Amino acid sequence: MEFAIDVGGTKIAYALIDRNRIVASDRMETAQEPPEQQLRAVGQRLKAMAKDASATPGVVGLSLPGPIAHDSLLHAPNLPKGWVGQRIQDYAAMLGLDLPLFAQRDALMGGLGEYAAGAGRGLQSFFYITLGTGIGGGLILDGQPVLGADGAAGEVGHFQVEPRGPVCGCGRRGCVEAIAAGRAIERAYESRTGVKISAKEIAERARAGEAGALAVYRRAGRALGVACAVVAQVANPHAVIAGGSLAQSLDLLQPALLQSLRQRAWSANLPLPILPAQLGGPAPLIGAAYFARRSLGQN
Ligand SMILES: [Zn+2]
Repeated sequence: MEFAIDVGGTKIAYALIDRNRIVASDRMETAQEPPEQQLRAVGQRLKAMAKDASATPGVVGLSLPGPIAHDSLLHAPNLPKGWVGQRIQDYAAMLGLDLPLFAQRDALMGGLGEYAAGAGRGLQSFFYITLGTGIGGGLILDGQPVLGADGAAGEVGHFQVEPRGPVCGCGRRGCVEAIAAGRAIERAYESRTGVKISAKEIAERARAGEAGALAVYRRAGRALGVACAVVAQVANPHAVIAGGSLAQSLDLLQPALLQSLRQRAWSANLPLPILPAQLGGPAPLIGAAYFARRSLGQN
């Protein structure tokens, strides 16, 4: 059994996991303070969880919202001060569980979750993309998670697709995230129509045939297609697995996505099916447990 922790900008989810299944899980809000106290609280709750289940997990998997390399979290704009720059083993000490701990970026952990127990079962190479308030990506190639030099392999969110496009949170223009993330879709729809509604409501309007809503999703699909074409060309995956809240609107994104992909990628790298993820929100928890087990050499 494993402990798994998924740290996000607004909540920290934690779980006890047995063979890719969640035995028990809970969550708390991410506190606006350095991680020491909060991780100690998570560690105590995990201990209680294991005691209730009469379980003795042997390892901890930690999913973090930013690239990890050189044994540190390098960059995480959504986390309070104090998280970035810590060594991964310092997090292990803060938890107070006295267990080995292995950490990776959330999109890679989500991909590993799908690989172990979701839509990626049986696929040796695929690209996992999370479509939500932001956009992240992780690569599994030949059954291995790909980290890259700075832990950011597959991070397509800030790949620029429209040089004169909308301003992105990173300060540049026209990144995939500035066009295809949930907030970007909401902003684009508002600037077209003056109406401020959620990406989900815009999707409903698009399905009802409203031109402005359809155009916003078409543009997002095109941007995602450019990113997927680059990944197809470089990594040659069997498929793209799309997770995150916006993956529920894959029906709207897919036509423009596939068209843009066909226009750009070499035919030898196609077709590239786009599959919906199966695990939903817990994917990074299940992936973190899998990664931890695997890092101990137990898979
Ligand atoms: Zn950007």
